[in-house]
Amino acid sequence: METKTMNLTCIRCPMGCSIRVELADGAVTSVTGNTCRRGEEYARTEAVAPVRTVTSTVKARGGVRPVVAVKAVPDVPKQSIFAVMDAIRAAKVCAPVHIGDVLIADVAGTGSNVVASADLAKA
Ligand code: SF4
Repeated sequence: METKTMNLTCIRCPMGCSIRVELADGAVTSVTGNTCRRGEEYARTEAVAPVRTVTSTVKARGGVRPVVAVKAVPDVPKQSIFAVMDAIRAAKVCAPVHIGDVLIADVAGTGSNVVASADLAKA
């Protein structure tokens, strides 16, 4: 059996608790140091399949602004962040855009969608 210990700083709130995660054969066996349930959830995910929130903007034509705010939903695997950002940079949409519109489906093969996080009216 292969065991491993990870020391993490929780990023779910400004408290920044130090969390220790024990793994055996890639599975989490123990989480300590967290102050709340959110910290345990963060640590379990971070130890096995880390994800990150991605927010950005996509270029837009014909709108009152040249870009529209977007977010990847759900959060994307950490190792895919650069591929996701490349896809977002390459994308262009036409106004109008409505909050919640899927602008890029299955971005970079992650299973996450890039959705508008704000409305963009036509100019
Ligand atoms: S464990 Fe809870 S209290 Fe501590 S940083 Fe994470 S979210 Fe905040």
